[in-house]
Amino acid sequence: MTETNPAKNRPAKAIVLLSGGLDSALAIRLMLNQGIAVLAVNFVGIFCTCGARQEGGGNLAIDVAQSMNVPIRVLPMGMDFMRIVEHPRHGRGRGVNPCIDCRIFMLRRAAQLMDEESAAFVVTGEVLGQRPMSQHRQALDLVERESGIAGRILRPLCAQLLEPTQPERDGLVDRARLLAIRGRSRQEQLALAKELKVEVFGPPAGGCLLTDPAIARRVKDLFAHCPDYDMNDAEAATFGRHYRLHEELKVILGRSEQENDRLQRLAGARPLAEIAGRPGPLALVRGVLREGDRERIGRILRAHGKHGDRASEKVCWLIEDREEYFTAHGVASEDELARWKI
Ligand code: SF4
Repeated sequence: MTETNPAKNRPAKAIVLLSGGLDSALAIRLMLNQGIAVLAVNFVGIFCTCGARQEGGGNLAIDVAQSMNVPIRVLPMGMDFMRIVEHPRHGRGRGVNPCIDCRIFMLRRAAQLMDEESAAFVVTGEVLGQRPMSQHRQALDLVERESGIAGRILRPLCAQLLEPTQPERDGLVDRARLLAIRGRSRQEQLALAKELKVEVFGPPAGGCLLTDPAIARRVKDLFAHCPDYDMNDAEAATFGRHYRLHEELKVILGRSEQENDRLQRLAGARPLAEIAGRPGPLALVRGVLREGDRERIGRILRAHGKHGDRASEKVCWLIEDREEYFTAHGVASEDELARWKI
């Protein structure tokens, strides 16, 4: 095995996609063990739980990179990614998850970094046959073709099941020390983690909120009704209770103090509403109000709070720093809630 780039007499460098999960952590260790210099790249999107983000907003990928003493870049997935979710070229999984397009998106970005960092290749922790949509053979081939760096994507966990890549052919990486892991079981990876002393990694069941049917419904609703949506709208689709009152109006209610705080942060210039004088949900109002909508929103708020026996309650309507009050009579019925629910 050649451990240095003979042309430049320094270690060859790889960009490694690091989710924070076990497979990508192992991929880094396998590269380091072959004397490859590593720059880890972690994509952070509002839907992504691949990185097993920790409570309090920490990023496990950073911990993994630090535990192996490799530098890391954290890259956001913003509106450019949302456009892909909205119009995927290669279909979606069981929710609105465009896994193939998403992998292409990440690899194209990694390819740019590869050029900027004078790296020789890109590494992923993918395992053949592990994920139904994006890790079967044709999907890997398709992603590779569309990434713009065909031949320079090394998947060390399953490389021996695939054609040799350029870095293997160039002698930068020893194919004999790469692996042939296939399928969904994690036993081999867990045994390998022990053997290679990879101790910091996220739980194996990483994933993405876009695969969640409830969130998929809300994201589709967003695409259908809010052509001017932004990242705040997209984030709001990931939590809370969602009701569409009509084509032009949706309300989102927080289910906890934490969700209320989050809605407040995402509201911007959009109205918020809450029952005055007692704790309960906050509602973020998104869209155009028609006659009677404010009262309907008041009745929805009452249906999700402890209204006691009161026939009516005051509702506080907040737009930025301005407060208005009105009275909501009655409570939204189960039928109404079921009809409006997204
Ligand atoms: S589950 Fe699919 S869409 Fe979601 S982040 Fe992972 S690859 Fe991308």
